[in-house]
Amino acid sequence: MISIINKFGRNVSYLLMVLSVASCGNKPAEISEKVRSASRDRMVRQLERHGIRDKKVLAAMETVPRHLFIPEKYRDTYDPYGDHPGPIGYGQTISQPYIVAYMTERLDLKPGEKVLEIGTGSGYQAAVLAALGAEVYSIEIVSGLAEHARTVLADQSIEKVHLLTGDGYKGWPEHAPFDAIIVTCGPEKIPRALVEQLKEGGRMILPLGARSHQRLVICRKKDGEVVVEEDLPVRFVPMVHGDK
Ligand code: SAH
Repeated sequence: MISIINKFGRNVSYLLMVLSVASCGNKPAEISEKVRSASRDRMVRQLERHGIRDKKVLAAMETVPRHLFIPEKYRDTYDPYGDHPGPIGYGQTISQPYIVAYMTERLDLKPGEKVLEIGTGSGYQAAVLAALGAEVYSIEIVSGLAEHARTVLADQSIEKVHLLTGDGYKGWPEHAPFDAIIVTCGPEKIPRALVEQLKEGGRMILPLGARSHQRLVICRKKDGEVVVEEDLPVRFVPMVHGDK
């Protein structure tokens, strides 16, 4: 800030600061739910055009208010319904809607199935899984993000999501086995504990490999063995290791 010494010898920078803070009081008007709902509708039509076919996944994404999962300080600069990832703080991102829809579609969930998510982040993906009728267990390693997700999910009375602050490499053995597992951060190898916690006949989707060469892979557990199918190239934040 530039300091100006006025004729009374006073530093008026404080006054300028007070005035500029006061003028910030005119916050842009809150965007109405009607406008948000129209944006959601546009997002879903775009997902359809890009090849998402599962009507239940599209309906789930039509209902979950994605903008509420973006921390308030990023809401003015990031379009929550545009098809791109966005900031959620702590150097982490919410995945773009297409990736959320695609991974969810590939999990092919039935209502009541138990799903483990690694990387709660904003809580949005977990809410989409819950909207499909799944019982969701989600683990986040950054406690500030876990707290944010907990608050947003509670505000919307979403009770089918259970959160744990901790290291996803360990999975959540108390609630295993899981019908499906979705990992939304990239490990370099398929985490062994997650394979162990997958039900026979279960499926797991994860971005595998170093950041520049990541690929989604879909693992299916059949007769105790894991069959791995390679899928799209992707770019997720790394799955970090917690304290050993
Ligand atoms: N699914 C999220 C996006 C996740 S971004 C959403 O819908 O918003 C990936 C998240 O994985 C980040 O929040 C990051 O902190 C978390 N993460 C990274 N390594 C992890 C680990 N070992 N265990 C649990 N979470 C981890």
